Amino acid sequence: MHFESTPEQVQLRKAVREFAEAEILPHVMEWDETQTFPLETIRKLGKLGYMGAIFPEELGGAGFGYIEYATIIEELCRVDGSVGLIVAAHTSLCSNHIYKCGSDEQRRYYIPKLAAGEWIGCWSLTEPEAGSDAAGTRTAAHLNDGEWTLNGAKTFTTNAHFADVCVAMAVTDRAAAQHGISAFIIEKNTPGFRLGKKENKLGMRASATGEVIFENCRLPRTQLLGQAGEGFVDSLRILDGGRISIAALAVGMAQGAYEAALRYSKVRKQFGRPISEFQAIQHKLADMATSIEAARLMVMRAAWMLDNGRRVTKESSMAKLFASEVAVRVAGEALQVHGGYGFIKDYPVEKFYRDVRLATIGEGTSEIQRLVIARQLLKD
Ligand SMILES: Cc1cc2nc3c(=O)[nH]c(=O)nc-3n(C[C@H](O)[C@H](O)[C@H](O)COP(=O)(O)OP(=O)(O)OC[C@H]3O[C@@H](n4cnc5c(N)ncnc54)[C@H](O)[C@@H]3O)c2cc1C
Repeated sequence: MHFESTPEQVQLRKAVREFAEAEILPHVMEWDETQTFPLETIRKLGKLGYMGAIFPEELGGAGFGYIEYATIIEELCRVDGSVGLIVAAHTSLCSNHIYKCGSDEQRRYYIPKLAAGEWIGCWSLTEPEAGSDAAGTRTAAHLNDGEWTLNGAKTFTTNAHFADVCVAMAVTDRAAAQHGISAFIIEKNTPGFRLGKKENKLGMRASATGEVIFENCRLPRTQLLGQAGEGFVDSLRILDGGRISIAALAVGMAQGAYEAALRYSKVRKQFGRPISEFQAIQHKLADMATSIEAARLMVMRAAWMLDNGRRVTKESSMAKLFASEVAVRVAGEALQVHGGYGFIKDYPVEKFYRDVRLATIGEGTSEIQRLVIARQLLKD
Protein backbone atom coordinates (compact mmCIF):
# COMPACT_ATOMS: atom_id res chain seq x y z
CA MET A 1 0.00 0.00 0.00
CA HIS A 2 1.21 3.49 -0.82
CA PHE A 3 -0.26 6.32 1.17
CA GLU A 4 2.10 8.93 -0.24
CA SER A 5 1.08 11.31 -2.98
CA THR A 6 3.32 11.42 -6.03
CA PRO A 7 5.45 14.56 -6.50
CA GLU A 8 3.04 15.56 -9.30
CA GLN A 9 0.06 15.22 -6.97
CA VAL A 10 1.83 17.28 -4.30
CA GLN A 11 2.59 19.93 -6.91
CA LEU A 12 -1.00 19.93 -8.16
CA ARG A 13 -2.38 20.43 -4.64
CA LYS A 14 0.03 23.32 -4.13
CA ALA A 15 -0.88 24.92 -7.46
CA VAL A 16 -4.65 24.71 -6.85
CA ARG A 17 -4.22 26.02 -3.31
CA GLU A 18 -2.22 28.99 -4.54
CA PHE A 19 -4.80 29.71 -7.23
CA ALA A 20 -7.69 29.46 -4.76
CA GLU A 21 -6.01 31.71 -2.21
CA ALA A 22 -5.02 34.32 -4.78
CA GLU A 23 -8.05 34.34 -7.09
CA ILE A 24 -10.99 33.13 -5.01
CA LEU A 25 -10.36 33.95 -1.34
CA PRO A 26 -10.51 37.76 -1.73
CA HIS A 27 -14.02 37.52 -3.27
CA VAL A 28 -15.65 34.74 -1.27
CA MET A 29 -18.00 36.83 0.89
CA GLU A 30 -18.88 39.30 -1.85
CA TRP A 31 -19.85 36.46 -4.23
CA ASP A 32 -21.82 34.80 -1.45
CA GLU A 33 -23.76 37.89 -0.46
CA THR A 34 -24.51 39.02 -4.01
CA GLN A 35 -24.99 35.45 -5.30
CA THR A 36 -22.48 36.17 -8.04
CA PHE A 37 -21.55 33.28 -10.31
CA PRO A 38 -17.75 33.61 -10.72
CA LEU A 39 -17.67 33.19 -14.48
CA GLU A 40 -14.28 34.83 -15.01
CA THR A 41 -12.68 32.57 -12.40
CA ILE A 42 -14.28 29.51 -13.98
CA ARG A 43 -12.78 30.49 -17.35
CA LYS A 44 -9.37 30.77 -15.66
CA LEU A 45 -9.82 27.33 -14.11
CA GLY A 46 -10.57 26.08 -17.62
CA LYS A 47 -7.33 27.53 -18.96
CA LEU A 48 -5.43 25.74 -16.17
CA GLY A 49 -7.01 22.41 -17.14
CA TYR A 50 -9.14 22.12 -14.00
CA MET A 51 -12.50 22.08 -15.84
CA GLY A 52 -11.62 18.90 -17.68
CA ALA A 53 -9.31 17.17 -15.23
CA ILE A 54 -10.51 13.60 -15.85
CA PHE A 55 -10.61 13.64 -19.66
CA PRO A 56 -7.82 12.56 -21.99
CA GLU A 57 -5.49 15.15 -23.41
CA GLU A 58 -6.55 14.39 -26.99
CA LEU A 59 -10.01 15.71 -26.05
CA GLY A 60 -8.56 18.80 -24.38
CA GLY A 61 -8.61 17.36 -20.87
CA ALA A 62 -5.78 17.28 -18.35
CA GLY A 63 -5.47 13.49 -18.51
CA PHE A 64 -5.68 13.15 -14.72
CA GLY A 65 -7.48 10.49 -12.71
CA TYR A 66 -10.01 10.84 -9.89
CA ILE A 67 -7.27 11.19 -7.26
CA GLU A 68 -6.12 14.41 -8.92
CA TYR A 69 -9.69 15.48 -9.61
CA ALA A 70 -10.66 14.96 -5.94
CA THR A 71 -7.57 16.95 -4.95
CA ILE A 72 -8.65 19.86 -7.16
CA ILE A 73 -12.20 19.84 -5.76
CA GLU A 74 -10.93 19.59 -2.19
CA GLU A 75 -8.54 22.51 -2.53
CA LEU A 76 -11.14 24.74 -4.21
CA CYS A 77 -13.66 23.93 -1.48
CA ARG A 78 -11.14 24.59 1.28
CA VAL A 79 -11.59 28.19 0.16
CA ASP A 80 -15.06 28.27 -1.43
CA GLY A 81 -17.51 25.36 -1.68
CA SER A 82 -19.49 27.13 -4.40
CA VAL A 83 -16.58 27.09 -6.83
CA GLY A 84 -15.96 23.41 -6.12
CA LEU A 85 -19.63 22.64 -6.69
CA ILE A 86 -19.66 24.47 -10.03
CA VAL A 87 -16.60 22.50 -11.17
CA ALA A 88 -18.00 19.19 -9.86
CA ALA A 89 -21.41 19.47 -11.58
CA HIS A 90 -19.73 20.58 -14.79
CA THR A 91 -17.04 17.87 -14.79
CA SER A 92 -18.16 14.66 -13.16
CA LEU A 93 -21.85 14.97 -14.04
CA CYS A 94 -22.40 16.80 -17.34
CA SER A 95 -19.07 16.36 -19.13
CA ASN A 96 -18.45 12.88 -17.78
CA HIS A 97 -21.90 11.67 -18.88
CA ILE A 98 -21.07 12.85 -22.41
CA TYR A 99 -17.59 11.33 -22.20
CA LYS A 100 -18.71 7.96 -20.84
CA CYS A 101 -21.91 7.47 -22.84
CA GLY A 102 -21.56 9.72 -25.89
CA SER A 103 -20.74 8.74 -29.44
CA ASP A 104 -17.25 9.60 -30.75
CA GLU A 105 -18.80 12.52 -32.57
CA GLN A 106 -20.49 13.85 -29.42
CA ARG A 107 -17.28 13.47 -27.44
CA ARG A 108 -15.19 15.24 -30.03
CA TYR A 109 -17.69 18.07 -30.33
CA TYR A 110 -18.50 18.74 -26.67
CA ILE A 111 -15.60 17.60 -24.46
CA PRO A 112 -12.92 20.01 -25.76
CA LYS A 113 -15.20 23.05 -25.25
CA LEU A 114 -16.26 21.86 -21.80
CA ALA A 115 -12.75 20.86 -20.72
CA ALA A 116 -11.43 24.28 -21.71
CA GLY A 117 -14.15 25.99 -19.68
CA GLU A 118 -15.31 27.81 -22.82
CA TRP A 119 -18.65 26.10 -22.33
CA ILE A 120 -20.24 25.38 -18.99
CA GLY A 121 -22.21 22.22 -18.45
CA CYS A 122 -25.11 21.29 -16.22
CA TRP A 123 -26.80 17.96 -15.49
CA SER A 124 -30.52 17.67 -14.83
CA LEU A 125 -31.95 14.60 -13.20
CA THR A 126 -33.98 15.97 -10.27
CA GLU A 127 -37.56 17.10 -10.75
CA PRO A 128 -40.00 18.68 -8.32
CA GLU A 129 -41.72 15.30 -7.81
CA ALA A 130 -38.67 13.13 -8.44
CA GLY A 131 -35.80 13.82 -6.02
CA SER A 132 -34.51 10.81 -4.11
CA ASP A 133 -36.83 8.75 -6.28
CA ALA A 134 -35.16 9.98 -9.45
CA ALA A 135 -36.63 7.13 -11.50
CA GLY A 136 -39.97 8.88 -11.01
CA THR A 137 -38.97 11.34 -13.75
CA ARG A 138 -41.96 12.90 -15.49
CA THR A 139 -40.22 14.92 -18.19
CA ALA A 140 -40.97 13.02 -21.37
CA ALA A 141 -39.43 12.80 -24.84
CA HIS A 142 -41.15 11.53 -28.00
CA LEU A 143 -39.57 10.67 -31.30
CA ASN A 144 -41.45 11.95 -34.37
CA ASP A 145 -40.11 12.26 -37.91
CA GLY A 146 -36.52 11.88 -36.76
CA GLU A 147 -36.80 14.57 -34.06
CA TRP A 148 -37.18 14.29 -30.29
CA THR A 149 -39.67 16.56 -28.57
CA LEU A 150 -39.13 17.12 -24.85
CA ASN A 151 -41.71 18.42 -22.39
CA GLY A 152 -41.32 18.86 -18.66
CA ALA A 153 -39.21 20.63 -16.05
CA LYS A 154 -36.16 19.90 -13.94
CA THR A 155 -35.39 21.52 -10.64
CA PHE A 156 -32.24 22.22 -8.56
CA THR A 157 -29.87 22.06 -11.54
CA THR A 158 -26.42 23.36 -10.58
CA ASN A 159 -25.00 25.82 -13.15
CA ALA A 160 -28.34 25.92 -15.03
CA HIS A 161 -28.41 29.67 -15.56
CA PHE A 162 -24.84 29.81 -16.87
CA ALA A 163 -24.73 26.57 -18.81
CA ASP A 164 -24.10 26.34 -22.52
CA VAL A 165 -25.04 22.70 -22.54
CA CYS A 166 -27.36 20.61 -20.41
CA VAL A 167 -27.58 16.84 -20.08
CA ALA A 168 -31.12 15.94 -19.04
CA MET A 169 -33.01 12.73 -18.41
CA ALA A 170 -36.48 12.18 -19.87
CA VAL A 171 -38.90 9.25 -20.10
CA THR A 172 -38.99 7.69 -23.56
CA ASP A 173 -40.88 4.50 -22.67
CA ARG A 174 -42.95 4.72 -19.51
CA ALA A 175 -43.81 1.01 -19.50
CA ALA A 176 -40.12 0.10 -19.33
CA ALA A 177 -39.74 1.96 -15.98
CA GLN A 178 -36.01 2.39 -15.11
CA HIS A 179 -35.08 1.15 -18.58
CA GLY A 180 -37.37 3.65 -20.22
CA ILE A 181 -35.51 6.84 -19.32
CA SER A 182 -33.08 8.35 -21.83
CA ALA A 183 -30.43 11.05 -21.64
CA PHE A 184 -30.28 14.01 -24.02
CA ILE A 185 -27.80 16.76 -24.77
CA ILE A 186 -29.49 20.15 -25.06
CA GLU A 187 -27.68 23.33 -26.08
CA LYS A 188 -28.80 26.55 -24.47
CA ASN A 189 -30.29 28.18 -27.58
CA THR A 190 -32.42 25.21 -28.54
CA PRO A 191 -35.99 26.41 -29.20
CA GLY A 192 -38.32 25.29 -26.43
CA PHE A 193 -35.53 25.15 -23.84
CA ARG A 194 -35.65 27.85 -21.22
CA LEU A 195 -34.57 28.61 -17.69
CA GLY A 196 -37.00 28.96 -14.82
CA LYS A 197 -36.50 30.12 -11.28
CA LYS A 198 -32.99 30.63 -9.95
CA GLU A 199 -33.05 29.57 -6.31
CA ASN A 200 -32.12 31.84 -3.40
CA LYS A 201 -30.15 29.44 -1.22
CA LEU A 202 -28.93 28.98 2.34
CA GLY A 203 -25.42 28.23 1.16
CA MET A 204 -23.34 27.61 -1.95
CA ARG A 205 -24.78 30.93 -3.03
CA ALA A 206 -22.19 31.71 -5.71
CA SER A 207 -23.21 28.54 -7.52
CA ALA A 208 -26.39 29.02 -9.52
CA THR A 209 -29.08 26.42 -8.83
CA GLY A 210 -32.26 26.55 -10.83
CA GLU A 211 -35.00 25.18 -13.02
CA VAL A 212 -34.69 24.14 -16.62
CA ILE A 213 -37.88 23.89 -18.63
CA PHE A 214 -38.70 22.03 -21.83
CA GLU A 215 -41.73 23.23 -23.80
CA ASN A 216 -42.01 21.33 -27.06
CA CYS A 217 -38.24 21.46 -27.10
CA ARG A 218 -37.22 19.87 -30.39
CA LEU A 219 -33.93 18.08 -30.72
CA PRO A 220 -32.31 16.36 -33.66
CA ARG A 221 -32.12 12.59 -33.21
CA THR A 222 -28.36 12.94 -32.75
CA GLN A 223 -28.84 14.65 -29.36
CA LEU A 224 -29.79 11.37 -27.71
CA LEU A 225 -26.93 10.48 -25.32
CA GLY A 226 -26.16 6.77 -25.00
CA GLN A 227 -28.69 4.03 -25.71
CA ALA A 228 -32.39 4.93 -25.71
CA GLY A 229 -33.89 3.80 -22.41
CA GLU A 230 -30.55 3.50 -20.61
CA GLY A 231 -30.20 7.12 -19.46
CA PHE A 232 -31.24 6.42 -15.88
CA VAL A 233 -29.01 3.38 -15.50
CA ASP A 234 -26.13 5.39 -17.00
CA SER A 235 -26.93 8.20 -14.54
CA LEU A 236 -26.38 5.83 -11.62
CA ARG A 237 -22.96 4.97 -13.01
CA ILE A 238 -22.18 8.66 -13.47
CA LEU A 239 -23.26 9.32 -9.88
CA ASP A 240 -20.75 6.69 -8.65
CA GLY A 241 -18.01 9.10 -9.75
CA GLY A 242 -19.99 12.20 -8.88
CA ARG A 243 -20.29 11.13 -5.26
CA ILE A 244 -16.52 11.01 -4.98
CA SER A 245 -16.48 14.67 -5.96
CA ILE A 246 -19.16 15.59 -3.37
CA ALA A 247 -17.15 13.66 -0.77
CA ALA A 248 -14.02 15.61 -1.79
CA LEU A 249 -16.04 18.81 -1.64
CA ALA A 250 -17.07 17.93 1.92
CA VAL A 251 -13.47 17.19 2.95
CA GLY A 252 -12.34 20.53 1.49
CA MET A 253 -14.96 22.53 3.36
CA ALA A 254 -14.26 20.61 6.58
CA GLN A 255 -10.56 21.35 6.17
CA GLY A 256 -11.24 25.06 5.62
CA ALA A 257 -13.48 25.25 8.69
CA TYR A 258 -11.02 23.30 10.83
CA GLU A 259 -8.07 25.50 9.83
CA ALA A 260 -10.10 28.61 10.66
CA ALA A 261 -10.87 27.16 14.11
CA LEU A 262 -7.24 26.19 14.71
CA ARG A 263 -6.04 29.70 13.81
CA TYR A 264 -8.68 31.40 15.89
CA SER A 265 -8.05 29.20 18.94
CA LYS A 266 -4.44 30.37 19.06
CA VAL A 267 -5.23 34.08 19.02
CA ARG A 268 -8.45 34.27 21.03
CA LYS A 269 -7.65 34.78 24.71
CA GLN A 270 -10.02 34.15 27.58
CA PHE A 271 -9.15 33.78 31.27
CA GLY A 272 -5.73 35.23 30.39
CA ARG A 273 -4.66 32.59 27.86
CA PRO A 274 -5.34 31.43 24.34
CA ILE A 275 -8.43 29.22 24.22
CA SER A 276 -6.24 26.57 22.46
CA GLU A 277 -4.77 25.87 25.91
CA PHE A 278 -8.10 24.63 27.22
CA GLN A 279 -8.44 20.88 26.96
CA ALA A 280 -12.07 21.13 25.79
CA ILE A 281 -10.94 23.13 22.73
CA GLN A 282 -7.95 20.84 22.12
CA HIS A 283 -10.26 17.82 22.06
CA LYS A 284 -12.51 19.50 19.52
CA LEU A 285 -9.49 20.24 17.30
CA ALA A 286 -8.20 16.68 17.68
CA ASP A 287 -11.58 15.17 16.80
CA MET A 288 -11.98 17.49 13.81
CA ALA A 289 -8.51 16.74 12.41
CA THR A 290 -8.91 12.98 12.96
CA SER A 291 -12.30 12.72 11.28
CA ILE A 292 -11.13 14.82 8.31
CA GLU A 293 -8.13 12.50 7.85
CA ALA A 294 -10.42 9.45 7.89
CA ALA A 295 -12.81 11.05 5.40
CA ARG A 296 -9.96 12.00 3.07
CA LEU A 297 -8.62 8.45 3.12
CA MET A 298 -12.06 7.13 2.14
CA VAL A 299 -12.33 9.64 -0.69
CA MET A 300 -8.88 8.80 -2.01
CA ARG A 301 -9.51 5.06 -1.78
CA ALA A 302 -12.72 5.37 -3.78
CA ALA A 303 -10.90 7.61 -6.28
CA TRP A 304 -8.05 5.11 -6.57
CA MET A 305 -10.49 2.26 -7.15
CA LEU A 306 -12.25 4.18 -9.90
CA ASP A 307 -8.92 5.06 -11.50
CA ASN A 308 -8.11 1.34 -11.46
CA GLY A 309 -11.30 0.36 -13.22
CA ARG A 310 -13.16 -1.00 -10.20
CA ARG A 311 -16.87 -0.61 -9.56
CA VAL A 312 -17.21 1.90 -6.73
CA THR A 313 -20.94 2.10 -6.01
CA LYS A 314 -20.48 1.06 -2.37
CA GLU A 315 -17.18 2.84 -1.74
CA SER A 316 -18.18 6.15 -3.30
CA SER A 317 -21.46 6.13 -1.35
CA MET A 318 -19.57 5.30 1.87
CA ALA A 319 -17.07 8.09 1.21
CA LYS A 320 -19.87 10.56 0.41
CA LEU A 321 -21.94 9.57 3.45
CA PHE A 322 -19.01 9.68 5.87
CA ALA A 323 -17.27 12.78 4.50
CA SER A 324 -20.45 14.84 4.29
CA GLU A 325 -21.52 13.99 7.83
CA VAL A 326 -17.99 14.67 9.10
CA ALA A 327 -18.05 18.03 7.32
CA VAL A 328 -21.35 19.06 8.91
CA ARG A 329 -20.01 18.11 12.37
CA VAL A 330 -16.65 19.79 11.83
CA ALA A 331 -18.22 23.03 10.58
CA GLY A 332 -20.47 23.05 13.67
CA GLU A 333 -17.54 22.51 16.02
CA ALA A 334 -15.43 25.10 14.18
CA LEU A 335 -18.23 27.60 14.70
CA GLN A 336 -18.42 26.65 18.39
CA VAL A 337 -14.67 27.27 18.81
CA HIS A 338 -15.29 30.82 17.56
CA GLY A 339 -17.98 31.44 20.18
CA GLY A 340 -20.13 34.46 19.27
CA TYR A 341 -17.74 35.47 16.50
CA GLY A 342 -18.59 32.26 14.70
CA PHE A 343 -22.06 33.66 14.28
CA ILE A 344 -20.73 36.78 12.59
CA LYS A 345 -20.07 37.09 8.89
CA ASP A 346 -16.62 38.64 9.40
CA TYR A 347 -15.30 35.15 10.13
CA PRO A 348 -15.20 32.37 7.50
CA VAL A 349 -16.76 29.62 9.63
CA GLU A 350 -20.25 31.09 9.33
CA LYS A 351 -20.17 30.49 5.57
CA PHE A 352 -18.65 27.00 5.85
CA TYR A 353 -21.45 26.15 8.30
CA ARG A 354 -24.08 27.13 5.72
CA ASP A 355 -22.36 25.75 2.61
CA VAL A 356 -21.57 22.40 4.10
CA ARG A 357 -25.25 21.47 4.54
CA LEU A 358 -25.45 20.78 0.83
CA ALA A 359 -23.01 17.90 1.16
CA THR A 360 -25.47 15.59 2.95
CA ILE A 361 -28.18 16.37 0.37
CA GLY A 362 -26.78 16.81 -3.16
CA GLU A 363 -26.19 13.74 -5.35
CA GLY A 364 -28.24 11.66 -2.95
CA THR A 365 -29.05 12.41 0.68
CA SER A 366 -27.37 10.60 3.57
CA GLU A 367 -30.51 8.48 3.91
CA ILE A 368 -30.23 7.43 0.26
CA GLN A 369 -26.48 6.71 0.61
CA ARG A 370 -27.29 4.33 3.48
CA LEU A 371 -29.87 2.67 1.27
CA VAL A 372 -27.35 2.28 -1.58
CA ILE A 373 -24.67 0.93 0.78
CA ALA A 374 -27.06 -1.52 2.46
CA ARG A 375 -28.25 -2.79 -0.93
CA GLN A 376 -24.61 -3.50 -1.89
CA LEU A 377 -23.87 -5.16 1.46
CA LEU A 378 -26.87 -7.45 1.16
CA LYS A 379 -26.00 -8.27 -2.45
CA ASP A 380 -22.45 -9.22 -1.46
C1 LIG B 1 -27.80 23.23 -4.06
C2 LIG B 1 -28.30 22.01 -4.76
C3 LIG B 1 -27.73 21.63 -5.97
C4 LIG B 1 -28.23 20.53 -6.67
N1 LIG B 1 -27.72 20.21 -7.90
C5 LIG B 1 -28.32 19.26 -8.65
C6 LIG B 1 -27.93 19.04 -10.02
O1 LIG B 1 -27.01 19.68 -10.52
N2 LIG B 1 -28.61 18.13 -10.75
C7 LIG B 1 -29.63 17.39 -10.23
O2 LIG B 1 -30.21 16.58 -10.94
N3 LIG B 1 -30.02 17.56 -8.92
C8 LIG B 1 -29.39 18.48 -8.14
N4 LIG B 1 -29.79 18.68 -6.83
C9 LIG B 1 -30.89 17.89 -6.29
C10 LIG B 1 -30.49 16.91 -5.20
O3 LIG B 1 -29.79 15.84 -5.74
C11 LIG B 1 -31.79 16.51 -4.48
O4 LIG B 1 -32.21 17.64 -3.75
C12 LIG B 1 -31.62 15.31 -3.58
O5 LIG B 1 -31.36 14.16 -4.33
C13 LIG B 1 -32.85 15.08 -2.69
O6 LIG B 1 -34.04 15.15 -3.40
P1 LIG B 1 -35.23 16.09 -2.85
O7 LIG B 1 -34.64 17.43 -2.61
O8 LIG B 1 -36.38 15.99 -3.78
O9 LIG B 1 -35.61 15.47 -1.45
P2 LIG B 1 -36.64 14.27 -1.17
O10 LIG B 1 -36.33 13.12 -2.07
O11 LIG B 1 -38.02 14.81 -1.18
O12 LIG B 1 -36.24 13.87 0.29
C14 LIG B 1 -36.79 14.49 1.47
C15 LIG B 1 -36.29 13.70 2.68
O13 LIG B 1 -36.81 12.37 2.63
C16 LIG B 1 -35.75 11.44 2.68
N5 LIG B 1 -36.09 10.26 1.87
C17 LIG B 1 -36.57 10.23 0.61
N6 LIG B 1 -36.72 8.96 0.19
C18 LIG B 1 -36.31 8.17 1.21
C19 LIG B 1 -36.22 6.76 1.40
N7 LIG B 1 -36.55 5.88 0.44
N8 LIG B 1 -35.74 6.30 2.58
C20 LIG B 1 -35.38 7.17 3.57
N9 LIG B 1 -35.45 8.50 3.44
C21 LIG B 1 -35.90 9.01 2.28
C22 LIG B 1 -34.54 12.17 2.15
O14 LIG B 1 -33.32 11.59 2.55
C23 LIG B 1 -34.77 13.56 2.72
O15 LIG B 1 -34.33 13.60 4.04
C24 LIG B 1 -29.28 19.77 -6.11
C25 LIG B 1 -29.83 20.13 -4.86
C26 LIG B 1 -29.37 21.23 -4.20
C27 LIG B 1 -30.00 21.62 -2.90
